[in-house]
Amino acid sequence: MEWNCLECKQFNQGDGLFCGKCGRRREVGAKQVLDILGLMENQPNARRTPQPGDLPGQFDIWFDGGASITHTGTHTEYEFADGTRAVQKYRFGPLSDPDYHVLDLDIAFPNKVSVSIASRVLFDNVHYSFS
Ligand SMILES: [Zn+2]
Repeated sequence: MEWNCLECKQFNQGDGLFCGKCGRRREVGAKQVLDILGLMENQPNARRTPQPGDLPGQFDIWFDGGASITHTGTHTEYEFADGTRAVQKYRFGPLSDPDYHVLDLDIAFPNKVSVSIASRVLFDNVHYSFS
């Protein structure tokens, strides 16, 4: 597998847990996740037509640092300038509110580490534990 270190951005090959160039462990921290969530939420300078330097490809919206395309009713794909990709899946709620959806998100970072965020309702009759 090929992957790029998040720390030194260098190309690595194989399934190793550590970057062969800088030695950094292959992981993702809260900062990297927050940066991606911030771009998804804010979409700075969002535009319908790409400008020079924007990501190439089929997208609905370009913004500073990334682009997205929405497949109506199923999911939105995001691509970011650093090579990170994300998919926001839609799980619809009340039919009376077609824009309603719950958070169900997968993020794949350039170091081939994925982070998933999914919201769930905690019912009283279902045992739930963080341990
Ligand atoms: Zn590195």
